[in-house]
Amino acid sequence: MITVNEAFTILQENLPAPRQEVVDLSNAYSRYLAEDILAPEPSPRYTNSAMDGYAVRWEDVNQSSPENPSSLSIAGESQAGVPYGQSVNCGEAVRISTGAVVPEGADTVVRVEDTGEQDGLVMIFSVREQGQDIRIKGEEFQTGDRLLDKGSQLRTRQLSLMAAVGVRDITVFATPKVSLLVTGTELVTSDNDEIKPFQIRDSNKIMLASAVEEAGGSLVTCDHVGDNLNSTVKILEKTAAEQPDFVLCSGGVSVGRHDHVKKAAEKAGFAELFWRIRQKPGKPLFAARRENTLLFGLPGNPVSAFMCFTHYVRPILAFLQGQSLTHESLTAKIQDEIANKGKRTNFLRVKVEFAPGKIPVIAQAVKQGSHMLSSITHADGYIIQEPGEILKSGSLKEVFLF
Ligand code: AMP
Ligand code: MG
Repeated sequence: MITVNEAFTILQENLPAPRQEVVDLSNAYSRYLAEDILAPEPSPRYTNSAMDGYAVRWEDVNQSSPENPSSLSIAGESQAGVPYGQSVNCGEAVRISTGAVVPEGADTVVRVEDTGEQDGLVMIFSVREQGQDIRIKGEEFQTGDRLLDKGSQLRTRQLSLMAAVGVRDITVFATPKVSLLVTGTELVTSDNDEIKPFQIRDSNKIMLASAVEEAGGSLVTCDHVGDNLNSTVKILEKTAAEQPDFVLCSGGVSVGRHDHVKKAAEKAGFAELFWRIRQKPGKPLFAARRENTLLFGLPGNPVSAFMCFTHYVRPILAFLQGQSLTHESLTAKIQDEIANKGKRTNFLRVKVEFAPGKIPVIAQAVKQGSHMLSSITHADGYIIQEPGEILKSGSLKEVFLF
């Protein structure tokens, strides 16, 4: 048996290379940039008005006050999308809407609220400064400025910025392709009403499918096979031929007479990277590789499968999308002493309690059985506790977040 760190190191040495692809903006949501995005044009694209009002010349209005308003003749209009097209001359004002081009000659905008119109004239009652309420071309950024860094995730704010400057085709990291194979003769689909007393519902399928999606991967195949060596070999051969980035198997990877995943994977051309880790839960985890495909034989116990996915598979899914291989974590304070009296590294599922201005507190989730899904449902993450390690009340510990 190897240690948690040894297993992780072996995986690090066998990481598949991230792939890239070009997508258009409307298909880029949640993807990760594989290139820096530079501004193809300045923002604002042209000098425009920040207010509905009048475009004027500062020299014509700078003495304005409510008692002594300046009076200008209205020469025309600059509407958003319909520019005025001429110069504003001395003594003239041009009606202007928010976002409309500031016409030549004008250097200041006076908002409607500070004016009054009468007989083709506009009174300017107050002004603050030259250039007020004008958005200058390029004041946000210039052509060539870096807008987004390689590795950024494209979400609402990033997509809108790119749309605004006309970025259309973007190089992103390819979505990792994952094949799922759920094994177990005792399983029925979780929505089956005909369940017999000796059967159980397959919860790993939806758990792993959702976990893959959450991690940015895409499920390309999803199969179920009973505990039978030949059927498992056949389906793994077929799956491997599609060359997914990952094959995730659930169950059948321990030492039982009906556990066939390891042998079947080897028969299907996968070479073992490791099998069995000194950890709890998830001891039977099996990892193998065939060309650029990594196969994980996750234990069938739902909590074990989830913890193995979270600790070993999820970081690699992130890596394939240009992210670091590290786990997201925070530091929190132990509430009640926790001792690891066992011989294996514990992935202890914990709840983290937050209070304003205080260091978060780790409360151990009560039930830790690897068959008890509620232990992860009600936990926020896990701590890694080595054999013999005693975590004193009040000490600080890193919590890896789900
Ligand atoms: P195994 O790893 O196949 O020996 O399974 C270990 C335990 O996990 C057994 O109690 C199985 O019934 C249970 N189990 C296996 N596969 C699943 C699954 N897909 N969903 C829920 N429980 C499972
Ligand atoms: Mg089984």
